[in-house]
Amino acid sequence: MTQQLSERVLNMATSATLAMAAKARELRAEGKDIIGLSLGEPDFNTPDFIKDAAKEAIDQNYNSYSPVDGYADLKEAIINKFKRDNGLNYTPNQIVVSTGAKQSLANVALAVINPGDEVILPAPYWVSYSDIVKIAEGVPVEVQTSIENDFKMTAEQLEAAITPKTKMIWYSSPCNPSGSVYSKEELESLAAVLRKHPNIIIVSDEIYEHINFGNGHTSIASIDGMYDRTVTVNGVSKAFAMTGWRIGYIGAPDWIARACNKMQGQITSGANCIAQRATITALEAPVSKIKYMIDKFHERRDLVLGLLGEIEGFQLNVPEGAFYVFPNISYFFGKTIKGKKIENASDFSLLLLEEANVATVTGEAFGNPNCIRISYAASETELKEAIKRIKEALS
Ligand code: PMP
Ligand code: GLU
Repeated sequence: MTQQLSERVLNMATSATLAMAAKARELRAEGKDIIGLSLGEPDFNTPDFIKDAAKEAIDQNYNSYSPVDGYADLKEAIINKFKRDNGLNYTPNQIVVSTGAKQSLANVALAVINPGDEVILPAPYWVSYSDIVKIAEGVPVEVQTSIENDFKMTAEQLEAAITPKTKMIWYSSPCNPSGSVYSKEELESLAAVLRKHPNIIIVSDEIYEHINFGNGHTSIASIDGMYDRTVTVNGVSKAFAMTGWRIGYIGAPDWIARACNKMQGQITSGANCIAQRATITALEAPVSKIKYMIDKFHERRDLVLGLLGEIEGFQLNVPEGAFYVFPNISYFFGKTIKGKKIENASDFSLLLLEEANVATVTGEAFGNPNCIRISYAASETELKEAIKRIKEALS
């Protein structure tokens, strides 16, 4: 029969991070020695104390549908986490647990965006934001930040981007892909602009909260006047090395949480029950239990910054969190390397894949065509070898 796909899916981009990971897997299956620095995924195993909680949950016969918005005791653990780490007070009706923070974000977008609503995305932004906005028939409005300003949006830039159609501002801190962390003062200056526009919703993606090597984490919802309009998104994928367990959650104004619950009830129902039980244990544990992973990411950040800094043409900011570097490599545009003309970041990323056997992601997918993203959630041996190969391929 004729293929009759929806305009929605035809107009959608494939997730560049997942596509590159698939490409790397494919090349490996062909026998190529590919070092994968494309996917943002901790290379650690889930800690044993969390795995034990999941095993116990299986034995306790947690096998039925959970409430759509999550088990009551998991919501209690999330409420306590928000209080302990972020100074935020939520009630159970403000919490929704989902199948990964990605679903949490999609729920919010589908629940509040109307066709034509504008969503401000400080660029670079995480790859899926713009396409989730488009799926919800909203209009992504990119605000270009600069490496000189550590890839952060200023209050002036935010002010200039706001129009009567602005529905939402959506960002991550620590940021995927730049690793930048907004300080309390920087968030306060953005909040001062937003106070003049009381109907703009804020989506604050804090999934890298604990992977922070700098001056601590601030949730914008804790800033005067922001709580009633902020959706705070978090999850266990990154800090607890639980990407495949698929648990994310939000703390939000009651009316948004209720709408997300309704949306999820028609699409996926409650998240995986065993993973929810394990998440209670993860969130109740002191953060010191996962510090060994954060310390490792910190060491690797320094290693990668040092080694990449030796390569001519890599301009770097100093990421304070997450596990990515996002070098500006526009120095190479117009040059021919190994017989290949480099016109843009996608060409450069492809060159690294083909000539150095190193998988990275083009910055175009993150709204910045001058950069590439390198994940350093990999072993030191792999990181050293990858950067050695990059250096050789470019020399
Ligand atoms: N937000 C950001 C910024 C991310 O990097 C990711 C990575 N997967 C997610 C959300 C989604 O996380 P998950 O669905 O695994 O909870
Ligand atoms: N968030 C990770 C990344 O940016 C995982 C892949 C994805 O979900 O897109 O690479």
